[in-house]
Amino acid sequence: MIRRKVLVTGGAGFLGSHLCERLLDADCDVICVDNFFTGRKENIAHLMGNPYFEMLRHDVTFPLYLEVEEIYNLACPASPVHYQFDPVQTTKTSVHGAINMLGLARRTRATIFQASTSEVYGDPEVHPQREDYRGNVNPIGPRACYDEGKRCAETLFFDYHRQHGLNIRVARIFNTYGPRMHPNDGRVVSNFIVQALRGEPIAIYGDGSQSRSFCYVDDMVEAFLRMMAAPDAVTGPLNLGNPVEFTIRALAEKVIAMTGSHSELIFRPLPEDDPRQRQPDIAQAREILGWEPSVQIEDGLERTVAYFRQLLDR
Ligand code: NAD
Ligand code: UDP
Ligand code: UDP
Repeated sequence: MIRRKVLVTGGAGFLGSHLCERLLDADCDVICVDNFFTGRKENIAHLMGNPYFEMLRHDVTFPLYLEVEEIYNLACPASPVHYQFDPVQTTKTSVHGAINMLGLARRTRATIFQASTSEVYGDPEVHPQREDYRGNVNPIGPRACYDEGKRCAETLFFDYHRQHGLNIRVARIFNTYGPRMHPNDGRVVSNFIVQALRGEPIAIYGDGSQSRSFCYVDDMVEAFLRMMAAPDAVTGPLNLGNPVEFTIRALAEKVIAMTGSHSELIFRPLPEDDPRQRQPDIAQAREILGWEPSVQIEDGLERTVAYFRQLLDR
């Protein structure tokens, strides 16, 4: 059998590890590249025995020479706590990382997928967000290293496409959750579940009236694979996410109900530039990929709670 050689950067992270698993299931030859900044060996330990899985410790801000047919560029810390820890490195990861991976794609003629983000819309004034909305990003705020880094990466992808004829796939990923999020990841779903399971107070930032739309990881990875398999004219940017939107307070209440926790709700200051609301318009993904999320929030949370229960019990 001839196996497609696929590179996944950020492959030891939350989304990357699920993607590596799905690619191996589809008989690909997978090379996972990660510097373990937020990724973990535990996420990919179960894949290490597979002869078609290779792990390379490498930082994408440095050049990388490999022979591959497809590249999924996911390397980048995704949680505000982690991407703000070393903001200069975050911008370098997005921008230099994109340049290196695009250079690699150019030399090998590989199709390259970029994990972009709903953060390119900043604190959106248009709701829900469609792909043609240009966003409301503060270029000098604490989230800018991530938001502007990802925006610049999109620019590079489209310039390599126009200038060098590269086959690109740019996905704008909205909040995604599920097993293998880091327990100290800092994002809201993992924070609330870990706090609830430990019986610690659940810390809502602000008054909890801000809203988000959460997509379960399996649905998201399915969309990645469909986008990569789509005709080359499908460059994106495509919004990928679950349009079901609710407030952060409602999420806290769901987590408490689901875990049977006695945790109380406490309120902390809202971080600077925290978006008020976010909901993807996925009409394009529906039409072009024939895709929409299928996992209900209750089911997805159930599976995520089960994962963290097991992790915390160890
Ligand atoms: P994650 O933090 O679990 O995974 C990111 C991975 O990239 C980690 O394994 C980390 O060690 C690795 N990494 C970071 N910098 C690197 C570097 N310089 N070189 C090599 N590896 C590096 O986060 P995730 O949720 O899995 O996110 C994956 C991608 O999807 C990111 O690009 C993120 O911006 C994007 N994204 C995720 C979400 C979400 O809700 N999960 C939303 C929008 C966009
Ligand atoms: N690059 C890489 N792997 C490759 C080819 C290129 O990491 O297989 C890097 C290289 O460091 C270069 C960047 O990608 O700086 C951009 O490459 P490109 O060929 O587009 O531009 P140039 O080499 O002219 O800078
Ligand atoms: N949030 C919260 N408590 C937490 C972590 C996050 O109330 O422990 C809030 C945060 O302020 C934001 C929302 O939940 O309004 C989603 O935060 P997350 O960091 O998960 O993602 P993003 O802000 O990038 O959408």
